[in-house]
Amino acid sequence: MDRRRLFANLPSVDKMLSHPRVIELEGQYPRTLLVDIIRAEIDGCRSKILSLTEDEMESFSIEVDELVQNIKNEIEREYALNLTRVINASGVVVHTNLGRSPLSEEIKEDMWEIASRYSNLEYDIQSGGRGSRYSHLEDIIRKITGAEDVLVVNNNAAAVMLVLSTMAKGKEVITSRGELVEIGGSFRIPRVMEESGAKLVEVGTTNKTYAADYEDAITEDTGALLKVHTSNYRVVGFTDTPGLRELKDLGEKYDIPVIEDLGSGLFVDLSKYGITYEPTVMDSLKNGADVVTFSGDKILGGPQAGIIVGKKEYIQKMKKNQLTRALRVDKLIICALEATMRLYLEEDMALKKVPTLRMLTYKIEEIEEKANRLYSLIEKAHISADVKIETGYSQVGGGSLPLERIESRVISIVPENMSVSKLEEEMRLSQDHVIARIYDEKYVLDVRTLFDEEFEIVCDRLKKILG
Ligand SMILES: *Cc1c(COP(=O)(O)O)cnc(C)c1O
Repeated sequence: MDRRRLFANLPSVDKMLSHPRVIELEGQYPRTLLVDIIRAEIDGCRSKILSLTEDEMESFSIEVDELVQNIKNEIEREYALNLTRVINASGVVVHTNLGRSPLSEEIKEDMWEIASRYSNLEYDIQSGGRGSRYSHLEDIIRKITGAEDVLVVNNNAAAVMLVLSTMAKGKEVITSRGELVEIGGSFRIPRVMEESGAKLVEVGTTNKTYAADYEDAITEDTGALLKVHTSNYRVVGFTDTPGLRELKDLGEKYDIPVIEDLGSGLFVDLSKYGITYEPTVMDSLKNGADVVTFSGDKILGGPQAGIIVGKKEYIQKMKKNQLTRALRVDKLIICALEATMRLYLEEDMALKKVPTLRMLTYKIEEIEEKANRLYSLIEKAHISADVKIETGYSQVGGGSLPLERIESRVISIVPENMSVSKLEEEMRLSQDHVIARIYDEKYVLDVRTLFDEEFEIVCDRLKKILG
């Protein structure tokens, strides 16, 4: 064969488009994308031919079947959504980079129904007139928390901003130096305050702040006392910070509202399940916060949202703030949140059905059972690696309980013919995108954050890579 003959044998785009398997693809994918990919594949062949030596040319032929297969692979890859599923074997339950809380299986039908049909989002079915999108969440969140009123916005950062903008714009807000937190993505409490138009007054020191420090800073310009739950770090040792009750007493004495940003909202006291006590939303209200804000998708286990609960007089004002319109939540979030909240009407139900809570409260026997299950699957796959069940520690994540190490079981893997970091990379880059840790020079899969159906997937992928 000479080069000219090879070029002449190259199929045209039209010829490829009439191939039965390509016609099938045309039914599934956009035609323009398909044509672009066919063209690129043919161009690839052309370059290949140009680069052939005389000898190579002798044995070279154009395989149409192979070309079709390449086109199929390429169009699948290009058409796949960029936002894609990953398997979390990191043991970090509320993993912000991996989408925080996975939603409950229980709510999927409700969500699809609202997503794919019309709804009473802002329509009052009783009167046939206009309704409020916020009304759907009010009753249920009031019922669970006992709060007077509720408002839900885009996320907790937005909630803090709206609260401050409504209650303290142009006024001073007193906060402890020990609580000026930065959470991920450089959300800094001092900056948020500035954006909201409130003026920050820092009191105390990093490790010690007393109620008297707040009291000394109170002036006629004070708009609120703010307590920020230091969710992602702890000042340990010689520390002091006034409790909510003390702030409440001050607030009453000077007629100033007390705001608490709880960060991760909790409705269930997890100390019953072996996790360090954290104030629940109900505790916060009971202890005198006038307004409390928290996230929907941290430990609460719902969709991304910022939930504001507290005194009606303040929340009514927030509802009228122009900012609220810019921070509003859409119907999918409202539906997901309402359906998740419904599970909280009974604590046991929430613990069972909300994946985040379920993962955080597994008994160690349940974790052992999961580890054994994954171990035996891997054992049967006969991979070339040293595989063990070991004790490891999971984390809550999402900037919550930073010091908490929850005892777990992990499968540790040391491949025989591959480096641990190469294995980590191949698992991550594979179609299944398994995200795991390297610890102590071993590849470590924490079973706590694996869903049941993912055990086989992880195992099959290990087999493909190390089999
Ligand atoms: C996480 C957190 C926020 C921000 O919440 P998002 O829902 O991520 O916007 C604000 N304050 C505290 C204390 C937090 O922990």
